[in-house]
Amino acid sequence: MAEDKGEGKEDYKLEANSELRFEVEAGATVQLELAEGKAEIFGTELTTNRKCTFLAGAKVAVYTWHGCHIKLSGRTDVAYISKDTPMTIYVNTHQALEQMRHIAEEHVTRGPRVLVVGPTDVGKSTLCHLLLNYAVACGHSPVFVDIDVGQNDIAIPGTLGAMVVERPADVEEGFSLTAPLVFHYGHNSPAQNPTLFNILVSKLGEIINTKCNEIKKSNYSGVIINTGGWVRGTGYDAIKHAAGAFEVDVVIVLDQERLYNELKRDMPGFVKVILLPKSGGVVERNRNIRTEFRDQKVREYFYGTRNSLFPHTFEVPFAEVKIFKIGAPSLPASCLPLGMKTGDNKTKVVPVTIGPTVQHHIMSISSASSVDHNILEANSLGFIIITGIDMEKQKFTVLSPSPRPLPKSILLMSDIQFMDIE
Ligand code: ADP
Repeated sequence: MAEDKGEGKEDYKLEANSELRFEVEAGATVQLELAEGKAEIFGTELTTNRKCTFLAGAKVAVYTWHGCHIKLSGRTDVAYISKDTPMTIYVNTHQALEQMRHIAEEHVTRGPRVLVVGPTDVGKSTLCHLLLNYAVACGHSPVFVDIDVGQNDIAIPGTLGAMVVERPADVEEGFSLTAPLVFHYGHNSPAQNPTLFNILVSKLGEIINTKCNEIKKSNYSGVIINTGGWVRGTGYDAIKHAAGAFEVDVVIVLDQERLYNELKRDMPGFVKVILLPKSGGVVERNRNIRTEFRDQKVREYFYGTRNSLFPHTFEVPFAEVKIFKIGAPSLPASCLPLGMKTGDNKTKVVPVTIGPTVQHHIMSISSASSVDHNILEANSLGFIIITGIDMEKQKFTVLSPSPRPLPKSILLMSDIQFMDIE
């Protein structure tokens, strides 16, 4: 394994079945070019002589099945070639799923529904990405579901989402987000409100069943579900709940034998539980990096991955919206109103008084038209941030991806905050 701290231009000759791993230094960018041979990044094939730019903090692996020549320019934190990768095992897994898809198509049944679980930083999102890309390359349109509320790949942190994947991910921009279905959860860990989390997972499961019944191609292609790293106690129960809600028939456990054995014991017999190794390239992220990553996701939502979007700023009179948050502080059982159970407080839709405390919070615009609708299970139309409050004028200023007016008037407040500073 050759290790390197890249400063300028570097040439890497990769043998068959090896990968070049690199991280982009803070404040820098790295350009990559495939000069010869064939290579892929997390399942997306690279085009020869096309330069791709990776931004600060990106952690990338360029894998080659038959050997290639890669040129890197820019400042990398680390760059090395490894021959020790689980790619053959991952591709075999894809092939097994492919067989299930063919059988589904032949017998007009449902394709594989795969739940990817494991602790944090084992490459769950990367494996989902890879399996989706390979499925698309084989002509399928799988559904991607992301219930990782901390590091969500479909929308922003604090949400759960689903979308149909019809094209391979772009190596620089990721999957194109056409019409994703997104639900507001409002926290960056499922542990903060497991009751609400499980309700939203059930809701997504129901919608996906309906959609798959309508869109035959997605039904054969199957569903790939990414999860967060919460695997113990209530987190384990949430995994079992998700397996049931999405009616999965395959559970892939990355890198944790204990979780694998527990799931083998607890899943119904028709569910295949598979243990896969993690790649040595997966980079562990500490709490600070996680927070930075979440901020970056929110910034990307408003400004685009490469500052290609131009968000709007405008004033909204307090009277034009109603803000709610989901979940009230828990009361001791003896203080509960008649007929209310402990746990009901977790799904309570609580009005929020507009004032300085709402500033910087992410707000999702609910598709619910009135408070009489089921706000809890209404999907999100988009997100805004309240960047300023004028109590005197009874107006607040928002950062919004689209111009005024807001499409609906019910806003759900997230715990997660974002300060719009460059
Ligand atoms: P998880 O979803 O389990 O938290 P991720 O799939 O998000 O883990 O991976 C964590 C980080 O490691 C990501 O930044 C990803 O790009 C990087 N990564 C994954 N696989 C590799 C690899 N083989 N080489 C280098 N970096 C990798």
